[in-house]
Amino acid sequence: MTKRKHFFQGAIRDLEQREARAFDFGRMTRRVPEAVATPRSVEEAVDLVRCASREGIQLAVRGGGHSQGGQTLTDHGAVLDTTRLDRIQPAGPDLVRAQGGVRWGDLVDSLEGTRRLPAVLVDIGEATVGGTLAAGGVGTTSHRYGAQVEQVEQLEVVTGTGERVRCSPTRNAGLFDAVRSGQGQFGIITEAWIRLRPAGARFRQYELHYHDYERLADDFERTVEADCFDHLRVEIRHRGNLFAFLVGIEYDEEPDDGRLLGALGHDELAFTRDTASVGRAGMFPSWGFSWLHYHPWRDWLLPWETLRSVLAEPLLDLESTPRGPWSWIGLYPGRRGEVEAPLFMRPPQDPLISYSILTVLGEFQYEQATELVEKLEDIDRELVGLGGKSYLSGGVGYSPAQWEQHYGEMLEQGIKWKQEFDPDQVFHRAGMPFAAGPRT
Ligand SMILES: Cc1cc2nc3c(=O)[nH]c(=O)nc-3n(C[C@H](O)[C@H](O)[C@H](O)COP(=O)(O)OP(=O)(O)OC[C@H]3O[C@@H](n4cnc5c(N)ncnc54)[C@H](O)[C@@H]3O)c2cc1C
Repeated sequence: MTKRKHFFQGAIRDLEQREARAFDFGRMTRRVPEAVATPRSVEEAVDLVRCASREGIQLAVRGGGHSQGGQTLTDHGAVLDTTRLDRIQPAGPDLVRAQGGVRWGDLVDSLEGTRRLPAVLVDIGEATVGGTLAAGGVGTTSHRYGAQVEQVEQLEVVTGTGERVRCSPTRNAGLFDAVRSGQGQFGIITEAWIRLRPAGARFRQYELHYHDYERLADDFERTVEADCFDHLRVEIRHRGNLFAFLVGIEYDEEPDDGRLLGALGHDELAFTRDTASVGRAGMFPSWGFSWLHYHPWRDWLLPWETLRSVLAEPLLDLESTPRGPWSWIGLYPGRRGEVEAPLFMRPPQDPLISYSILTVLGEFQYEQATELVEKLEDIDRELVGLGGKSYLSGGVGYSPAQWEQHYGEMLEQGIKWKQEFDPDQVFHRAGMPFAAGPRT
């Protein structure tokens, strides 16, 4: 214990604080960390990593904790919570610097009045910059700009050896490639230089309802091909055979609704929403989700040609899932962005589909939630069989053979990066396949 005393002196041991980091959004696993560290500066994060490395303490890096599957949880080490690394600074007209613990919603708010927004936003304002860059980051503009990991110019990272390193496609490019979609395995993203795009003065979204998946698929394909909307999302809802196509535009001058929607084959225009809060418009309100519910969620990136089959027969029959407040299937169209992220595994085709099964179960439905997790594992095999790749927005519990299939030749590269950037395995392995040896 003396060997570990320095780290624990600098960290929080209070049970309430530890309990607060014992679950993630999935809520399927509970692990109470031995301590919680909340660095307020990058220098402090460097000291914590060096101290943890010296004293053999494993760190689970945590941002907003929205992943599902336990990657940010540990009961034999400490959680390093990044949310106090929350500084935002302009870095030119089309670039903003945000520390790793900045929440996307706060970043968007800080840009109010500039008529600029990050090229891609996720639909939850409480997820952090470092957390979604560690996964991928897809959203309603991905049909134009790809994923968030493909829209960063440079990063600052604290590696497992406690070095503070700037990296980009031309400078320390190996580290830049390792940490984007790297699931916190190679370093802590302490700052990101994020590309901005011009934004409209207002946002208008039309919710179109379809009962016929063929007509929806036609419209989905046509709108992506014609690139005529700024924001696109499909939801298959837990009510009969309802497909909702949410198409949105950003505008300065009053749009002509009839012209925009005239060529589409929907059954009904269910809602029109108009707001000046353009950046927050695509984000679900935080009160829309309860952290007391179980969330067996999985996401995939699928080849475009699977569109009609996944719409024709949703792989999870939502009518048969236990009724939580919500359960739905979500689709975003996606394209490659500007800078390839090699650990963001996706089918080679362009465009592609981001496909998510999102179920919500009540506090007393743990058993049903466990059954759903198993069902999602079967669905994963089916989708991988169709050429899809898991999108690691949460833990997936893959076996070594499944990881090999997932990463292909990038697995060996990932193992090399782990040896280079985190040789003592300071960062909690979290079910990921890059670390060798006995530590878990
Ligand atoms: C309601 C909801 C909506 C979502 N919507 C979207 C969406 O629209 N698009 C999308 O792409 N995803 C979406 N997700 C998934 C989400 O983007 C990922 O789970 C993301 O990783 C969560 O970010 P976080 O800050 O909560 O990270 P956490 O859950 O805290 O961490 C996730 C992973 O990132 C690592 N990590 C965290 N911070 C850092 C850092 N600074 N440096 C290095 N590694 C780090 C952790 O170790 C962990 O492995 C959604 C999730 C929820 C719950």
